[in-house]
Amino acid sequence: MPDLPLTGGCLCGGVHFEVDAPLVSASYCHCTRCQRRTGTAASVQGRIAPGSLRITRGEELVRAFRPPDGFAKMFCADCGSALWSQSADGEVMSVRLGAFDTDPGIRPSFHQFVAYAAPWEPIPDDGLPRYAERPPA
Ligand SMILES: [Zn+2]
Ligand SMILES: [Zn+2]
Repeated sequence: MPDLPLTGGCLCGGVHFEVDAPLVSASYCHCTRCQRRTGTAASVQGRIAPGSLRITRGEELVRAFRPPDGFAKMFCADCGSALWSQSADGEVMSVRLGAFDTDPGIRPSFHQFVAYAAPWEPIPDDGLPRYAERPPA
């Protein structure tokens, strides 16, 4: 297990945060929205325990893209770094694993929305379950 709290932030350093409980799960998302949001083939995120994230610097820089369906996508207004997703009631749901300063102590356990995977990057042969869209509940 990693030492808690985990810390993380954005590329420019304006936003910094702490997570004071172990992450619950992690996964790769290959949906088109995540491709656009990140500029890459997939997004990797970790579900956090409810209420375990605290912004320690730069709260005023945290902006939201709110799609009509699904969670808000939070990012830094200065550098554009993807930070986390947030539900309509403001609860932080999943933190982008690349935003952590150190090993967050969890590994992705599945790939979702692989039906939309980028044609230019093969899904790694890592033995993890792959789901065409969302994993079964
Ligand atoms: Zn930033
Ligand atoms: Zn996605």
